[in-house]
Amino acid sequence: MRILITGGAGFIGSNLCDRLLADGHDVIAMDNLITGSTDNIAHLAGNRHFQFIHHNVTEYIYVPGPLDAVMHLASPASPIDFTRIPIQILKVGSLGTHNALGVALAKGARFLLASTSEVYGDPLVHPQPETYWGNVNPIGIRGVYDEAKRFAEAITMAYHRIHGLETRIIRIFNTYGPRMRLEDGRVVPNFVGQALRGEPLTVYGDGSQTRSFCYVSDLVDGMVRLLMSSETMPVNVGNPLELPIRTFAETINRLTGNTAGIVYEPLPADDPKQRRPDITRARTILGWAPKVGLDEGLTQAIAYFRSKI
Ligand code: UDP
Repeated sequence: MRILITGGAGFIGSNLCDRLLADGHDVIAMDNLITGSTDNIAHLAGNRHFQFIHHNVTEYIYVPGPLDAVMHLASPASPIDFTRIPIQILKVGSLGTHNALGVALAKGARFLLASTSEVYGDPLVHPQPETYWGNVNPIGIRGVYDEAKRFAEAITMAYHRIHGLETRIIRIFNTYGPRMRLEDGRVVPNFVGQALRGEPLTVYGDGSQTRSFCYVSDLVDGMVRLLMSSETMPVNVGNPLELPIRTFAETINRLTGNTAGIVYEPLPADDPKQRRPDITRARTILGWAPKVGLDEGLTQAIAYFRSKI
């Protein structure tokens, strides 16, 4: 297949490029590098099956030649970006998704939307199945990302219903691994960076809020399986192993040998209290389950961040 990946120079996007190239596909990565980096795809320079286009997908997308699939990952996704560049996030989720759908329709290509567990907001149903409609504050600081992704899901389903476009929606839960930015602001790079510098880890709130962390190779595998399936309704992909953030901090201190401990800082507004994917649909429809355990995945991620520090 010839596949366009928007956000292809980002953390997940660049890992997806590697996987699809290894599977024998031709890949075009498109990115405006607002949060992505050419460092993530530098090793692909000279690969005749790979091409990079520097472009902001909120502007009209032009890709020469045929396309079999469009995988739309472009979006900043860290809570620090929600306050730093909220309008860009709203534009890429809305205008960017519209443009990415447009190019898929024009090329007769299949379309996959990278959506998020943030569509569930601060969830009142636990764990979260795809049937849950969510609990989102539209005017809060996270609303710019949550509502952009909810709009993106809505317009994707509209293109499916009105234009008969072959669409897929993956709802990605917390994912970590090599090529996350060290200064990304999300919990894994924050904690690992602090631990490697011998500093205390900054736990927000009392650390009782939970998250479930998926290693990037597992996530990418779920994404490829969904693209190749015929499932048009949303599918959660994430690791259901749920931990309080305080326990997660202790795990990182243990794996890095950091003895500086933990400091507590204020909890940001609207920070979800709990999050764990119900992956029944991914298991039954895609035959997918995560394979990489937390210690194993964190060891890989720590090695990557060590090389960047
Ligand atoms: N968090 C933390 N310390 C940090 C960064 C994040 O305690 O230095 C917490 C954050 O408040 C949240 C969880 O870790 O409860 C996951 O945060 P992240 O920014 O990775 O993503 P989220 O899942 O909130 O979108």
